[in-house]
Amino acid sequence: MKILVVGGAGYIGAHVVKALLNAGISVRVYDDLSTGQKINLFPQIEFVENTILNEKALEEALTDVDGVIHLAAKKAVGESMTLPEIYATNNITGTLNLLNAMAKKNVKNIVFSSSAAVYGTPQYTKVDEAHPVNPINFYGFTKLEIERFLEWYDRLKDIKFIALRYFNAVGYDETGTVQGLEKNPQNLLPIIMETIVGIREKMLIFGTDYDTPDGTCIRDYIHVSDLATAHVSALNYLLKEHKSQVLNLGTETGHSVLEMVKRTEALIKPFPHENAPRRPGDPAQLTAVAHKAHTLLGWTPTHSALDNIILSTWALYQKHFPQNR
Ligand code: UDP
Repeated sequence: MKILVVGGAGYIGAHVVKALLNAGISVRVYDDLSTGQKINLFPQIEFVENTILNEKALEEALTDVDGVIHLAAKKAVGESMTLPEIYATNNITGTLNLLNAMAKKNVKNIVFSSSAAVYGTPQYTKVDEAHPVNPINFYGFTKLEIERFLEWYDRLKDIKFIALRYFNAVGYDETGTVQGLEKNPQNLLPIIMETIVGIREKMLIFGTDYDTPDGTCIRDYIHVSDLATAHVSALNYLLKEHKSQVLNLGTETGHSVLEMVKRTEALIKPFPHENAPRRPGDPAQLTAVAHKAHTLLGWTPTHSALDNIILSTWALYQKHFPQNR
């Protein structure tokens, strides 16, 4: 079996490729290396360096593949609100190119990286897949629109899909096989790590007056190796059941920002942080119900314990910044 992993040189993509190779599946990676990195390309894979805006190149790359895992997207929430054109083109047009190329080449299976950002501000917690979708940022809107295109391509072109709605992806491969550190990280844990290694002067805690036990926001942090195995299971499900699904991927457990800060300080070392105003668009609490993924895929997270998330991230930062050992 051969799978085309679009965006396979990126942070989540590289972990997915590793999981596919571990499962004995051949991989062709398609990536424009805009945020993906060469260091994330495993020697066993075929690599096509091109953009998803090139439909002809996509068609060619789809030759002799049994399915697609599509992770290529712009994903900075804040940037999506100031540069929506880039998100519309890369995420929506790029995915339509891929779907059109798949239709042409008769490739009928796709696993798509969606996001909990499709839900917007939760109306209840924990959030299941039946929760209304109402994105409050343009990034989430692009993911939701793509899910809707997938539904139509299923009906009209018989392309079956699994949309995986990731909660907060964190951590790095514990075996050290994935070596690329994400460039320009915008998320909590990498920002904490950058503060510890001295790239940043201090870390800001965005909002301490939320309606949560310690006043800071609560999120569902899922280890990227757990996300990765879910893609392999999703692919197997598609090939066996030929049925489209939308699935949450989270741990069903929440951690507050303050908890993340305090646990990291306890495990590694104290670092400068300050309370700051709320960041616009942040819901107080976002945690998943992931029952559907458990039942349909037989998937459960095994890497997502808080200490493992923190220490696996720290291990790679130490490799890249050895003076902090
Ligand atoms: N956060 C923070 N300081 C930072 C970055 C993030 O306090 O420098 C908080 C953010 O407000 C949110 C949580 O950490 O409550 C997770 O944010 P992140 O950007 O990692 O993911 P999001 O949940 O926005 O997708």
